[in-house]
Amino acid sequence: MALPMLNVDLHSHSDVSDGTLSPAALLARAKDNAADVIALTDHDEVQGNAEARIAAEALGIKFVPGVEISTTWAGSTVHIVGLHIDESNSDLVKGLASTRSGRVERAKEMGRRFAAVGIPHAFEGAMKFVSNPFLVSRKHFARFLVADGYCKDIREAFRRYLVEGKPGYMPHHWASLEDAVSWIRGAGGIVGIAHPGRYRFSDLVFGAFLQEFKYLGGTMIEVVTGSHSPDQYLKFAKIAMEYGFLASSGSDFHAPGESRVDIGTLPPLPKGVTPVWADWY
Ligand code: AMP
Ligand code: MN
Ligand code: MN
Ligand code: MN
Repeated sequence: MALPMLNVDLHSHSDVSDGTLSPAALLARAKDNAADVIALTDHDEVQGNAEARIAAEALGIKFVPGVEISTTWAGSTVHIVGLHIDESNSDLVKGLASTRSGRVERAKEMGRRFAAVGIPHAFEGAMKFVSNPFLVSRKHFARFLVADGYCKDIREAFRRYLVEGKPGYMPHHWASLEDAVSWIRGAGGIVGIAHPGRYRFSDLVFGAFLQEFKYLGGTMIEVVTGSHSPDQYLKFAKIAMEYGFLASSGSDFHAPGESRVDIGTLPPLPKGVTPVWADWY
């Protein structure tokens, strides 16, 4: 049976993590863009799902409670998405609290590193952009660097200061892949790999990652995302088919005027893949 063409966006951020819109404002924007199905996937935090669900119901949008967990695998950061989670699951809530706990210390250290390169008060500056004080991210530092005239835009802020090897970069040890997958599965959720095109693994190491992810119980991979090129849509569609993963689609929208792809404005998935939402409605 042919699926109706739904406008689906299964990756987005509110100001509960490092987006700038409240969960309700995010859903209102999705409605303006004619979205049918939306997942909220804040970093390491599920608190926004309650507000987002109420807003979605009022707007007639189908809502998918979600999360994006920061993990460290083979020394690199990999983001894992959980969809249709029970956000009140206590192991998930506890696991996320432990994942968040190092963020403030890390941000203070980033502040000291910025001071050492002639940018004082960066921690305080970043905190001005934070609504959830336990969820300070590199994005908040990027907004401070732009607002205070150190950089012309967020991209430049990351490129010059916030990526590995740059003065404001502070390595961090996140959750293990195994823990993140088990928290999401324990909360009844579907486990997926976020924006696979962003990682800098060799093909060999990425293959090992995919095997381990699958072995642990991961079943989904983002194919269309705001950070993929059309070539990457095809590349990861092929990988989804090879490994038997469901395909997901998500803008990774954070903020108007900042994110490249607006919430609810994604192109369709490539032919041949099974959309993760194929049997939802
Ligand atoms: P953190 O979890 O504190 O390491 O911050 C990660 C945040 O920074 C996520 O929102 C990413 O989307 C964002 N991010 C990472 N790299 C870049 C980049 N090169 N340009 C823009 N945003 C980025
Ligand atoms: Mn983010
Ligand atoms: Mn991410
Ligand atoms: Mn994200």
